[in-house]
Amino acid sequence: MEKTADIVIIGGGIVGLSIAYYLALKKAGKIVLFEKGQLGEGSTGRCVGGIRTQFSTEINIRFSLESLKTFEQFEDEFGVNPEFKKIGYLFLAASEQEIRVFRENITLQGKFNIPVEFLSPDEIRCRWPYLRTDDVLGGTFCPRDGCAGPSEILSGFVNGAKKEGVKICEGTEIVGISVAKGRIHSVKTQDEEIFAPVVINAGGPHAATIGGMAGVHIPVKPLRRQIFITGPFHLADHPIPLTIDIHRGWYFRQEGNGLLLSGPLDPEPSFNLNTEYEAMAETSENAMYRVPALEKARIGRGWAGLYEISPDHHAILGKVPEAEGLILANGFSGHGFQHSPAVGKVISELITDGKASTIDISSLSIERFKKGELVLEPMTAFKE
Ligand SMILES: Cc1cc2nc3c(=O)[nH]c(=O)nc-3n(C[C@H](O)[C@H](O)[C@H](O)COP(=O)(O)OP(=O)(O)OC[C@H]3O[C@@H](n4cnc5c(N)ncnc54)[C@H](O)[C@@H]3O)c2cc1C
Repeated sequence: MEKTADIVIIGGGIVGLSIAYYLALKKAGKIVLFEKGQLGEGSTGRCVGGIRTQFSTEINIRFSLESLKTFEQFEDEFGVNPEFKKIGYLFLAASEQEIRVFRENITLQGKFNIPVEFLSPDEIRCRWPYLRTDDVLGGTFCPRDGCAGPSEILSGFVNGAKKEGVKICEGTEIVGISVAKGRIHSVKTQDEEIFAPVVINAGGPHAATIGGMAGVHIPVKPLRRQIFITGPFHLADHPIPLTIDIHRGWYFRQEGNGLLLSGPLDPEPSFNLNTEYEAMAETSENAMYRVPALEKARIGRGWAGLYEISPDHHAILGKVPEAEGLILANGFSGHGFQHSPAVGKVISELITDGKASTIDISSLSIERFKKGELVLEPMTAFKE
């Protein structure tokens, strides 16, 4: 019997599942999602769950604010506690250029009524005395930011999508996409061909490989970030914000009764998921520099995951001129977890209504790279 679907989604991470859920809510037809391994086994299961409104471009702020609405009422909508903890995000600056950019960011964030404070080194020292601040020139703090559980959010979307009738096929890799006369025709697994007029690329760091199956070049590269967790360690009686030492490209936050420490971000693309001793040593050095008390901490475990980096560190969303019916939800550059609810909404609107109405996504089209219309940030993006 011929297999057909109205919409095929490739990728069972947070982005594919959010899109599946919102499409199903809009009664978009027969939706089938293919995941080559297990749901969430890609970047989603390796991310640290950061959620922030402190972005430096309007489009990212819009995605954050829209997604925040979903995170804040997640339990009511999905029946799952998202473990959303508003511990705040604290950015630290150690150069005049960083201070200048922080001030520009606050002006932009103020236009969206985001409650971000600019803090002097003295204020930082007073509120977070465990931080080394002799080289800090200032910082910004937003108490609305925080982190949530990637597996909790994923399971909310999975349950919601299944309840609304989405068919989810785990352990099934898409190995080919056929395009006929400029239109998407079908996808192929090892065993079968599924005919569908709409195919969504939600392949995370594998976006370029999936695009290649349809003859479309998608400029997304996988970059490894290593993460380490200390054993139990008491630093303060109050919650420790996700603290970003922007100068050193390092961050940390509370994780259970220990601390989560960011490790190095690879300079070159690869699919390497190993953790390395040298990375742990570099992480410890950054940690002891900014938080001297961590000299007494012990690293208990670690893991590595892949960012899906686009040339301007912004998502690539929407249609593709070379292949009608192919829809991209790629290139989140380290922000795909926190923006996944809004991405699900806008992609479902694009497919069912022909236009994304919640947020105008035209500036995130893949065509911006050919046109030289990149969405630039004032300073290289910091990726959680
Ligand atoms: C260390 C680390 C920390 C991070 N921290 C944060 C953070 O604090 N906040 C934040 O917002 N973001 C964070 N991110 C980024 C976030 O994890 C990603 O942006 C997000 O998970 C992307 O989701 P996705 O669904 O697009 O990709 P993925 O979760 O990678 O899902 C893609 C899925 O597609 C599947 N797939 C690929 N090819 C095929 C195929 N041919 N057929 C079938 N299935 C296929 C894969 O197996 C995978 O499961 C972090 C990332 C890392 C690595």
